[in-house]
Amino acid sequence: MSFPIKVCVVCGEEFELKPNKPGFANRCPECSADEGSDLATKSRMDADERRSQSEANEARREAMRNLLYRKDS
Ligand SMILES: [Zn+2]
Repeated sequence: MSFPIKVCVVCGEEFELKPNKPGFANRCPECSADEGSDLATKSRMDADERRSQSEANEARREAMRNLLYRKDS
């Protein structure tokens, strides 16, 4: 899978614009990281963290369930 190539408005480097890239769409990841507001980044990270954590829990529960079923049969 390939992503559109953009030129960063800050440093002029080409970069791949990935759908979930944090920060500005016209800045490379490095320049986005430099300029990102700590608070906004942090709360977004927390939300992502929470979601991935609940996904992990869900996956673990699923695995446990599969294990139990396999034991019963
Ligand atoms: Zn840049």
